Amino acid sequence: MKNFSERLIQWGTKEGRNALPWKEKNNGMFDPYKIWVSETMLQQTKLAVVMPKFKHFMEKFPNIEKLANSSVDEVISVWSGLGYYRRARNLHKGAKVILNDRQKVFPKNAIDWETIPGVGASTSAAISSFTNSERVAILDTNVTRVLSRRYCLNEVNSKMKEKKALLSLAIKLLPQKNSEMPLYSQYIMDLGALVCKPVSPACERCPVSDDCESFTSETVELYPKKTKKILKERKLTWVLAMDREKVILEKQTEEKLWKSLFVPASNIKMKENKRLPRKRFFRSYRLKVSNCDLTLDVWKRECVFDKIKLSGKHQIARKTANKKVPMPKILEKILQDSSFWILSS
Ligand code: SF4
Repeated sequence: MKNFSERLIQWGTKEGRNALPWKEKNNGMFDPYKIWVSETMLQQTKLAVVMPKFKHFMEKFPNIEKLANSSVDEVISVWSGLGYYRRARNLHKGAKVILNDRQKVFPKNAIDWETIPGVGASTSAAISSFTNSERVAILDTNVTRVLSRRYCLNEVNSKMKEKKALLSLAIKLLPQKNSEMPLYSQYIMDLGALVCKPVSPACERCPVSDDCESFTSETVELYPKKTKKILKERKLTWVLAMDREKVILEKQTEEKLWKSLFVPASNIKMKENKRLPRKRFFRSYRLKVSNCDLTLDVWKRECVFDKIKLSGKHQIARKTANKKVPMPKILEKILQDSSFWILSS
């Protein structure tokens, strides 16, 4: 029987995701800028969502100079729709570091990639295995699931000790030749996404089923073991100061949550020290964000805008605006629910 990496590469050449726009080669090399951007987008977002966004991002920021020399607001605006905006801020910071501190020289190995803002262990391994053919193991959620089923692992992601054990198993499976690393890294992620899926894995067409421990012991459905994450409870209140056409937003600067995005303005004041109109309770929303279970209580305050003291930090979002304001997805939903919608560009 061929070894794991040989079977995987043979399968991936026919069945893997081989036509990704960031994998076009120039002089036989991948473009590290495109690989870095794509791997950052793929951190928490599915490939189908990333594909059109990547194209749009490259049209706006075709190279590292353009990205580094744009404002963070422009980057966030182009990122809009992908969520997890910290990734956009980190890409912008990282572009400045690579352009200004490193004279446009991209890191040459995974350890060095980890010094770039927003690049963690798994992303650095993916980037460096693609761009430098480095023999490093990726441990993203897809690969972790493949390994946990292949080796019937009881624990995979809670303690450092378990992570180390997982990493050493992942390293054992790597191909011996560095030149095979770009294909291997792509195909092990593809295997998790296309065959060894979270639900109903397609073991009957898996290239590595012969020595997969959970498959041979008919226990695939037991892995990966589910661990219940306990999230902190958090409460937040938003008051929408709005009329029939407009709502007043401001950029989140203090709070870590949704930083740099536009959220409903707090501390609205009336001109001539008049009293604000009464706020009315609208609805409560429950959502999971940044390791917490959030209860968001939303109130509405119907205002006459002429009578409000607006400042430079306020942004008026209008129903008829043709430029989308970068805002949390939950705010887009709230505005829709309250019959208020901003047309996207
Ligand atoms: S045989 Fe099934 S469980 Fe094992 S790696 Fe393949 S798809 Fe996953």
